[in-house]
Amino acid sequence: MTAQIIDGKAIAEEIDRRVGAAAAQLERLMGRKPGLAVVLVGEDPASEVYVRNKVRRAMAAGMESTEIRKPASISQDEVIALVRQLNDNPSVDGILVQMPLPDHIDAGAVINMIDPDKDVDGLTAISAGRLLAGEDGLRPCTPAGCVLLAEQAMGDLTGKSVVVIGRSILVGKPAALLFLEKNCTVTVAHSRTTDLPALCRTADILVAAVGRPQMVKGDWIKPGACVLDVGINRVDAPERGEGKTRLVGDVDFDEAAGVAGWITPVPGGVGPMTIAMLLRNTMTAAARRANLEQAG
Ligand code: NDP
Repeated sequence: MTAQIIDGKAIAEEIDRRVGAAAAQLERLMGRKPGLAVVLVGEDPASEVYVRNKVRRAMAAGMESTEIRKPASISQDEVIALVRQLNDNPSVDGILVQMPLPDHIDAGAVINMIDPDKDVDGLTAISAGRLLAGEDGLRPCTPAGCVLLAEQAMGDLTGKSVVVIGRSILVGKPAALLFLEKNCTVTVAHSRTTDLPALCRTADILVAAVGRPQMVKGDWIKPGACVLDVGINRVDAPERGEGKTRLVGDVDFDEAAGVAGWITPVPGGVGPMTIAMLLRNTMTAAARRANLEQAG
């Protein structure tokens, strides 16, 4: 193996610590803790784990974090009314609606009701527009985490060529814009891209956000490149015993680690950064709402 492993867990812990210090400072200035409200609709087991982790880490960083649970039978109007209430609640700085929502609810309609200044997931159309326009705003957490990891590994990213595989509004598109903001030269690839391996070999930074287990092979990678694996895929792991599974990324880690300069593992790479960025966004939202400079 030649690649250095980028320890997303350790970097995320360091960000959580800094957010914690900033939260304490903000609490003194505002007379209350920064507040994060997390809405969970239904009983999807994976969503329950995500929400629990978000609330736990927000509390550990000294924030007020409330989990609002609603049954899967709730109507779209009721979810929207709940979001409106949270928009109007002065002690709530950040609002997150955990995806996916039940099929009868239009997720876009709900997300776009979130006050953009409290949109700590960075997923409203207004937040996306602010990113595109280069205006201040809350940035989507997973791609923001990718940029930070690349900077940790490589320092200044100016002039680097970046290939992002995936064009979702959640990861691929905002990742492309955030790397562009860092003066990278960005190409976005997707399922219709021709000769993806050759394109990937041009990348100083390769971001894989596809959702296909171990699709990116070692010979797709430019020697010395920084590989950021966003994918989280559960696959069978018979070697661990009957019926066992394990998590893998979109990159064939063993192959890629023999070629890349830096690589994120799955789990423990991009994943932990997502919550760290959520907490950082909540701090930013709280500070801006209180008309204070961002504290951290
Ligand atoms: P989407 O399914 O919304 O998007 C996948 C993208 O990959 C699409 O743009 C699609 O192209 C592209 N794609 C699919 N197949 C191919 C292919 N064979 N070659 C090239 N491109 C392809 O997924 P998300 O963006 O929401 O998530 C991507 C992955 O990241 C998933 O594994 C998800 O679990 C993970 N994830 C991890 C997070 C974390 O915290 N670490 C957070 C969010 C997501 P097209 O548009 O043409 O269909």
